[in-house]
Amino acid sequence: MATFKDFRNKVKPNWCPGCGDFSVQAAIQRAAANAGLEPDSLAVVSGIGCSGRISGYINSYGFHGVHGRALPIAQGVKMANRDLTVIASGGDGDGFAIGMGHTVHAIRRNIDITYIVMDNQIYGLTKGQTSPRSEMGFKTKSTPGGSIESALNVMETALTAGATFVAQSFSSDLKELTSLIEQGINHKGFSLINVFSPCVTFNKVNTYDWFKDNLTSLSAIEGYDSSNRMQAMQTLMENNGLVTGLIYQDKEKKSYQELVAGYDENGLSKQDLK
Ligand code: SF4
Ligand code: MG
Repeated sequence: MATFKDFRNKVKPNWCPGCGDFSVQAAIQRAAANAGLEPDSLAVVSGIGCSGRISGYINSYGFHGVHGRALPIAQGVKMANRDLTVIASGGDGDGFAIGMGHTVHAIRRNIDITYIVMDNQIYGLTKGQTSPRSEMGFKTKSTPGGSIESALNVMETALTAGATFVAQSFSSDLKELTSLIEQGINHKGFSLINVFSPCVTFNKVNTYDWFKDNLTSLSAIEGYDSSNRMQAMQTLMENNGLVTGLIYQDKEKKSYQELVAGYDENGLSKQDLK
């Protein structure tokens, strides 16, 4: 059985020292081993951005795609070889700006892949511009007077789009992040895991300390029920989206793969569509 070390390769990441993405890489490697995967049963597909390099840093099948297109490639990989476990990965600029159309449709399609977004609320690779996850008033070289756009509430958007697995974590919490990725891999359907992964070089607002001060763990909310979509939405709205843990999971809805498997010349039975 593979251990997390089997998912390491010899490529040295060129992320800045202290970048949150190192922990996300470690969490994926640990979660893959914990889920009983082998390097040849996993494909990691990434988009463009600092975080997009991750597919080259994991010993598995890998595909470093083009900007905003990790999900179309990942879905193609999954449909071509349904025995592979597929992880798609990238940053907030990649997945929630140019790639947002793909994100929403992959969610509602409920295709059986795990999408891990390293959310640093900035464009890091291009040296620090405002992203769709930057808060209003956020100053960068692209918005020197402060952003006049609202940040995208991405977890709420996912719930509205019909997501069956929505989770959020912080790169500093390796234990929780590893567990959520393992749960996402085991989920039969699309799993979205948004990870606050600080950009220590360009984002001087949303720092490690800022997240420690502002994030609320769902485990601290008494009676929180991750199968209750209404409660998930309300909790996100009450906390400005700054919660960590398993926000929502629907274990009943069939995945795209299951429906394809039940499809023949007569179409799907009513039973299939339940
Ligand atoms: Fe990480 Fe930011 Fe450096 Fe990119 S620029 S590697 S996101 S710290
Ligand atoms: Mg980013």
